[in-house]
Amino acid sequence: MASGCCGGNSGETLIFTCAGAAHSGQVANRAGIGLMQAGKGNLFCIAAVGAAIPDKMERARNAGRRVVIDGCEDHCARKIMEKAGLPVEVHVDVTELGIEKKPAEPQLVLHAKRVVEHVAETL
Ligand code: SF4
Repeated sequence: MASGCCGGNSGETLIFTCAGAAHSGQVANRAGIGLMQAGKGNLFCIAAVGAAIPDKMERARNAGRRVVIDGCEDHCARKIMEKAGLPVEVHVDVTELGIEKKPAEPQLVLHAKRVVEHVAETL
């Protein structure tokens, strides 16, 4: 759905993920893909927010709802949003769902599904 001109609640839902190198960071990103595939919103580039790319910032500002998924308690994605002055309506730290921050492991898809189900319940 296209966003409205004034950033009201009728705008699109954008999903930002930290996409960190740790397993939990990759789970965060995979969950963002899963939520988009489930029709819960559009996955968006947190790196573009960090780089303040003008057209990306405008779309992020105009979103009706911003969902941020982080891979650990450092909350990098949420902090990038805060530094950019963008509100965060829904924030999830996947380690709070029992997913450990550790090197890559073969549970990526399974753990991402757990995050998708958790976030989908809040949307
Ligand atoms: S929130 Fe954690 S996993 Fe994600 S980029 Fe930051 S340090 Fe890495």
